[in-house]
Parts: sequence; structure tokens; C-alpha cells
Amino acid sequence: MNKRTFLKTSGALMTGAVLANLEACAPEKRPLKNWAGNLEYGTGNVLYPKSVAEVQEMVKNSKKLRGLGSRHSFNKIADSTSCQVSSEGLNQIIELNRTARTVTVEAGMKYGDLCTYLHESGFALHNLASLPHISIAGSIATATHGSGVTNGNLATSVAAIEFVTGAGEVVELTKDDDAFQGAVVGLGALGMVTKVTLNLLPTFEMQQVVYRNLAMSELEKNFLAIMSAGYSVSLFTDWKNKNVSEVWIKDLVKAEARPNDFYGAKLATQNLHPIESLSAETCTEQLGVPGPWYDRMPHFKMGFKPSAGAELQSEYFVPLEHGYEAMKTIEELSEKISPHLFISEICSVAADNLWMSPCYGKACIAIHTTWKQEWDAVMGLLPLFEEKLAPFNARPHWGKLFTLAPSALQARIEKLNDFKELMQQYDPEGKFRNEFIDRNLF
Ligand SMILES: Cc1cc2nc3c(=O)[nH]c(=O)nc-3n(C[C@H](O)[C@H](O)[C@H](O)COP(=O)(O)OP(=O)(O)OC[C@H]3O[C@@H](n4cnc5c(N)ncnc54)[C@H](O)[C@@H]3O)c2cc1C
Repeated sequence: MNKRTFLKTSGALMTGAVLANLEACAPEKRPLKNWAGNLEYGTGNVLYPKSVAEVQEMVKNSKKLRGLGSRHSFNKIADSTSCQVSSEGLNQIIELNRTARTVTVEAGMKYGDLCTYLHESGFALHNLASLPHISIAGSIATATHGSGVTNGNLATSVAAIEFVTGAGEVVELTKDDDAFQGAVVGLGALGMVTKVTLNLLPTFEMQQVVYRNLAMSELEKNFLAIMSAGYSVSLFTDWKNKNVSEVWIKDLVKAEARPNDFYGAKLATQNLHPIESLSAETCTEQLGVPGPWYDRMPHFKMGFKPSAGAELQSEYFVPLEHGYEAMKTIEELSEKISPHLFISEICSVAADNLWMSPCYGKACIAIHTTWKQEWDAVMGLLPLFEEKLAPFNARPHWGKLFTLAPSALQARIEKLNDFKELMQQYDPEGKFRNEFIDRNLF
């Protein structure tokens, strides 16, 4: 295996800061909750390292631990019953390399905090998720994505990744290393990610518009054309009335304005929230007003609460060519799901080579749903979603709720065995394995 492994000496000294951290990790502390508040983690032991050396010490001194980002996942992927290592204190920009067009950051940096700096320095990222509040390592670990038929998920912009293995060693992998494509969407299972290098584009301006009321019958005839109609296209629907309530189109700034009519849908004349009854104050500017890429690509603004707040989310990926068929089959559930639904979003993600990405080797449509926080009802509805999408071998989002049987999930992950070999290589004692990993991958 062509790998460049840097064993950096830990100094083997437990610094005062680390001791303080370990003391702060008292079992009686109340566990944290995830962002949505639907999940209280299984331990109050949370460590807050501020350097790679501190992470190394923590790993060496723990039997079990799990990396924790900004806690935006809805399922137990970041959970632990022993110890969580938060990346909150690892939030610095390390280097902007203008020649290579890359930026290296610490793992816990949030996209929202990085983007303004990049823009002011003349650079941009190729895409962002619906919200900028999430940590970079936590996002790439689950293959978090935005939309766009030619835009890969956020992990596809990773040029290098550094992590601390189960043995406490620091490993850096770049695109030249065989393990790289397996390690980027790492599910937190290979070690604690400490640094990430991202590829950059020259900065650019964007504008977005929203069209209202697109008939499903137009999607039947023009699905790919509609999904390709801008740099990033998202469809929002409550699955009622054979209708998509909002089509969000994000474009590079153009000389000519978008027409009033888009396949029969009409241009909105005021800013809208994807959930029409909510105020658009939290949303990025629409109406075709130009602005920097980072203030148009996400649907929600930094500094405001994104989405609905008290909510649950699920999301399934199906091959792009089955996008319309998949939507039609979910539409059949309309009556059952409507009472529990805030909104669904359909977006597209380009194919990639990242082993654990749901878009490995195939471009996908992602059918995302924001649910009311009604746990029992939602957990009862997800099997219906999964049954409807089974003919398309749908894969769930790693950070959202799903009930798919592990055997079915595993059968849909082409590179699962290779990934398990990486786990064995970098974490032979299974320090970073948790219940989520054990249940879903083994
Ligand atoms: C309102 C809202 C909107 C969302 N919108 C989108 C969207 O548009 N697109 C999309 O794809 N997803 C979306 N998500 C889901 C979200 O992007 C993912 O769940 C993402 O993984 C969250 O990142 P995080 O930093 O909160 O990670 P966490 O939830 O804290 O952790 C996620 C995983 O990363 C691991 N991890 C975190 N940090 C490290 C580290 N330093 N080293 C090793 N492992 C680590 C954890 O162990 C866990 O496995 C949304 C979620 C919310 C709440």
C-alpha cells in the first residue's frame, strides 16, 4: 500500500492542559444532546483537546472514544457510552496555499467561519450544505452534500486529511495514498480527524431565485433538465396536490434575469422559507440579488437558527436516473406522511470515488425529509419510505434517521469490506467503534 504515514512523537508527556481535560471528563456530568435535541448522548465524558498532541494523549489513555463535531447528526453515529472527543477547540485556519489553491484547517472549524475568510482572500469552495453551522470534519465524515448535478458532496473537495489512529499515531493521507478514498468519508471510525485540507476555486458571486408551484407532470417529462437548470437546484414538496411547492435555483451571476415562468412554475416576488409558513428572515437572499457564493449556496444564514429547529430528518439516495420514479413512489405515501411532515427536499449530487459515500460511482438524487419531532410516528413511517425506495437500492444519509436492516444496508455498500480493512489497519482495537458502527457495518 502506497501510504505516507507520519509518526509524530507525542512527547509522551501528559500536559497540564490534558490533565485538566481528563479531570473535566467526570462521569457524573450530564451528557450533551444533539442539535435537534432528539438524542441525549450515552456519556457525560466529553474531552475538549486544543492540539494534536492533546488528541494523541487522549486516544492513548482511552479504551473507547468517539469524535464529536457540531452535533448536527440526528442518529447515534457520533454517540459513545464511554467518551466523546469534541473538535470544538480545534477551530483554527492553519494555512492558505495560494499556489496550490488549498486551505488547511483544524477539524472543528465550521464552514460558516471559514467561508468569509476564504472569500476575502479571493477563494471559494465548490459547494456547501443547506446550513453553514456544521463542522468540516463532522460533515465530510458523513458525506454531507449540497445540490448540483455536477457538484460532488463536500468531502469531494478534500485534498488531504490528518487523523490520530487508535494507537495515537498521526497519519496524513493525500490523493496519492491508496487509503485516501476510503478515509475521507470515515464515519468517525478510523480515528480522530485533526486537520483537513480543502481544494479551492477562485471566489465568485451567485444569485438565487425561487419558483413556486411546479407540477409533478413537468418533472415526469423534464426531470434531468429541471435538476440541471442551475449550478444548484432543490425541489421542496409536501407531496400534496401533485405539486412541488418551491424550486430553488442557485446560479453564477448572469447578465440576463431569469424568466417569470419555469416549466409552468412562477417566479416568487418575495424571499421564502422552504417551509412556507415560516419567516424567510433566516434564509439566504433570493430574488436574483447577487452576493458572495457562501451567502447563496446554503439555504440558511449563519447567525440564525436553520431549518425548523425542533425536528427530525431522514434522507435517502437513489440513482439520478430513477429520481422521478422514486419521487412518484414516495408521493403515494402522501396521506400517511403529511400530518408528520414539515417539508421534503429533493436535490442532486454528482458521482464520486469515496468508498463510503452514498454517491460512490453513481450520481444520485437525495430525497431529504424534515419531520415534526414526533419520534414514534416518524420511526413508524421510515420503513414505508425504505420499502418504497428498495427497488432503487436506496442508501440512507449517514447522519440522519433510518431503520434499514443492516444486512440490506451492507449489501448496498460496494466498498464495505475495503473500509473494514482500513478500520482494522488504523484502529485494530476498535477504540473508535460505537454501537452505530457495530450495528450497521458488522
Ligand atoms: C438543520 C440541519 C440541516 C442539515 N442540512 C444538511 C444538508 O444540507 N446536507 C447534508 O448532507 N446534511 C445535512 N445535515 C446533516 C449534517 O450535515 C450531518 O449530520 C453532519 O455530519 C453534521 O456534522 P457535525 O459537525 O455536526 O458532526 P456530528 O454530528 O457531530 O458527527 C458526525 C460524524 O462525524 C464524526 N466526527 C465529527 N468530528 C470528528 C472528528 N474530528 N474526527 C473524527 N470523527 C468526527 C462523528 O463521530 C460522527 O460519526 C443537516 C443537519 C441539520 C441539523
